Amino acid sequence: MNSVDTTPDHSLVIAVDGTSGSGKSSTSRGVADRLGLRYLDTGAMFRAMTWWLLREGVDVRDAGAVAAVAGRPRIESGTDPLAPTITIDGEDVSVEIRSEEVNAAVSPVSAVPEVRARLLDLQREAIGAGGIVVEGRDIGSVVWPQAEVKVYLSADPDARAARRAAEEGGSDLASTQESLLERDRIDSGRATAPLTMAEGAVHVDSTHLTLVEVIDRIVALATEVQAEVQAGAREGA
Ligand code: C5P
Repeated sequence: MNSVDTTPDHSLVIAVDGTSGSGKSSTSRGVADRLGLRYLDTGAMFRAMTWWLLREGVDVRDAGAVAAVAGRPRIESGTDPLAPTITIDGEDVSVEIRSEEVNAAVSPVSAVPEVRARLLDLQREAIGAGGIVVEGRDIGSVVWPQAEVKVYLSADPDARAARRAAEEGGSDLASTQESLLERDRIDSGRATAPLTMAEGAVHVDSTHLTLVEVIDRIVALATEVQAEVQAGAREGA
């Protein structure tokens, strides 16, 4: 079993960014579990905000209307990799945020700068002293550019759609792929914090890798980086 020293001196942050359906969640949870780290799903925060806006009857295509209320809901993320939670104003919405309605609205909502600014504060607060794997689109580039390990995870669209459709209990492959590609298009093209490969990120293409192989790679990378950090700290002592 690999173990990483996550005392405050060695507060490892692993940033996992990438396209929709590239396996970020399963990978990040697996890495966090193996290394005894916490886990933060920032996509769930954007989804929770979107779910709340839809429920409040806000027009999610109206950036001004979204911006005006983005500060209102209280969003809390539970960071146990084996049982992550997401609540909004105390209500558990882990199931609701995976609906088709939220899938279709989350990228336009996430492009609104006021939404990003609000969630950025919450994300940095949750990362705190570190010891965490954080998944999203802009973690290594904007949220935590100082992360010791940065991974950019990708996979071919066919593989991504097949995995996502299987997760969703056999939903239609073509429409799943269309929905993923549409989100990628908006997420990569937006003006504020677009999806991009962060400086210093290691690119892992998971198309032909199993989940365990991807987790193994990132754990190896983290163990290597952590050994360097610890050696540096000893030298400096
Ligand atoms: O990762 P997931 O597919 O759950 O993310 C849902 C959406 O949330 C993304 O398509 C993107 O629009 C937004 N997102 C973001 N920045 C992040 C994480 C997610 O814009 N760091």
